[in-house]
Amino acid sequence: MCGITAYCGNDFALPFLMQGLSKLEYRGYDSAGVTTLESGQLLTVKCKGRLKNLEDELTKYEIKGNIGIGHTRWATHGIPSNLNSHPHTNEDQTISLVHNGIIENYRELKEELIKKGYQFQSETDSEVVVQLLDLYDAGNIFEATKKVLKKIEGSYALCIVSTKEPDKIVVAKKDSPLIIGKVNNAYVAASDIPALLEYTKDVYFLNDLEMAIMEKEKISFFTHDGQSIEKKLVTIPYDLEAAQKDGYDTFMLKEIYEQPHVINETLRGRINHQEIVLDELKEIDFSKFNKIYFVACGTAYHACLCGAQVLEKAIKIPVTTTPASEFRYSDPLIDEYTLAIFVSQSGETADTLAALRLAKQKSATTIAIANVLGSTISRDAQYVLYTCAGPEIAVASTKAYTTQLVLLFLFAYYVAQQLGKEVDHALIQQLSHIPEYVHNILKDHQVFENYAKMLENLHDAYFIGRRLDYASVLEGALKLKEVSYVHADAYVAGELKHGPIALIEAGSVVIAVATQPHIAAKTISNIQETIARGAKVILFTTHGEKVKNVENTYYLPDVAPTLQSILVAIPLQLIAYYTAGIKGCDVDKPRNLAKSVTVE
Ligand code: GLU
Repeated sequence: MCGITAYCGNDFALPFLMQGLSKLEYRGYDSAGVTTLESGQLLTVKCKGRLKNLEDELTKYEIKGNIGIGHTRWATHGIPSNLNSHPHTNEDQTISLVHNGIIENYRELKEELIKKGYQFQSETDSEVVVQLLDLYDAGNIFEATKKVLKKIEGSYALCIVSTKEPDKIVVAKKDSPLIIGKVNNAYVAASDIPALLEYTKDVYFLNDLEMAIMEKEKISFFTHDGQSIEKKLVTIPYDLEAAQKDGYDTFMLKEIYEQPHVINETLRGRINHQEIVLDELKEIDFSKFNKIYFVACGTAYHACLCGAQVLEKAIKIPVTTTPASEFRYSDPLIDEYTLAIFVSQSGETADTLAALRLAKQKSATTIAIANVLGSTISRDAQYVLYTCAGPEIAVASTKAYTTQLVLLFLFAYYVAQQLGKEVDHALIQQLSHIPEYVHNILKDHQVFENYAKMLENLHDAYFIGRRLDYASVLEGALKLKEVSYVHADAYVAGELKHGPIALIEAGSVVIAVATQPHIAAKTISNIQETIARGAKVILFTTHGEKVKNVENTYYLPDVAPTLQSILVAIPLQLIAYYTAGIKGCDVDKPRNLAKSVTVE
């Protein structure tokens, strides 16, 4: 996620860079830095932590450059530290850059560069770009950038300055945001509109695989292979708050719509043809484990329920999923043959952290799955995998959940692969296309908005499903409770007749998920039992199932049953979202809830 700012004009660059970074703070970051170019020399100041630290550091210098680049980092490769902060520079301090995104093939590139004698200062993927620029730069930084873009794979927004051409900034973009603004006597760039608004509302939107050269009074656009292109200047009507939400009404909706992108980021570099690549875990000998625990809280716990089922089926070793608040007081059976996996978006969840420490103390091998790089849980566990959801601002988790599912499934099939078990390659192939399916489901938002209207005047809603679908409905019910305050409970469909069906009466709404072919028909017959008692049903299923009398049926795309748990999360999130909207609730900040639960 992170934030980039850049200024090329007649005034001092620093004020624009810093105000821009502060407007981008809402995106989340762990460190910050700037480079300015003055009298043919680069001055780079960067540090870990809040922008305030950078501001304090900057008071030690008198900065007068008219060209500069700035960055707030959301670490993906290398912990948040002064050295890993951007901008990154080459050894002789002639080139500096800021990067947002992930360079997938940075390991190979780094090895090649080290063989050529390059020394790396940081652990980041981004640094390979500046070293490659150094390798290719023969006095024309634009030409060098073109060559580098041919070598790098992954996502990037890049702003590059060079002392050899001290009057320009080269900009390039693919799969990470970057826009350019026109000011009276300058051109400016940033990851997002809020950073520009104080200066201008006139912007150029850079598309993927496009480049630009910003000069004081001139802007030129190119394709990534250097052909000149024309772009239209667009005037944007936004105010600041609307701009931070990227035109969406709320952060929750924005984050729901970010899912195709962040799932792609989480998959990036982790599937190579048929093989799953999780280098972070390559030291682990999975054959020694006879017991596996998944431990988490809330939404992450639901993701674990799915991950655990898939893992157990793939490797035929008992897998238990426990809420962290229970695990820590359960005197769990753990020894050195136990693997324990701890999942937390923030990486700071107090119960999960306590559970992790207990498991370590009892000699388990521990893996963290977190979204925030360098967070306590990710540092405390022996191994860590990161989801790449970017900062999640809405309290109710959406994109963190689906990226956790993606990573947990990759993990399950990775372990199976390492143990020499059979892995369903067609499923892996489909997993790499999940972002497109999610994108298409989002287009049906009107259908889910209509479903939400059915809940408008209700105090309760009932969710049912079996196996993986049960985990999905647990999460669907949680989302609805969290943001709309409709009391919602999720039941194993087969348990309905053992109690909950007593609650069903005329007008009750039952939301059923039946996507698993071996048991979908069973859930569908449970639905009939509720219809017979007057319930109105919303059903999520697949085309293969025979459905009678269920008016509100949504057919999910035809993918492997395991992957349906990712897809069905989208409509369930949107139902919760729209219900909250109808009821006038503050979806981004539900009452009584906190984003990161750092107390027991
Ligand atoms: N992958 C880069 C890093 O970890 C850039 C992260 C970002 O977009 O902030 O440094």
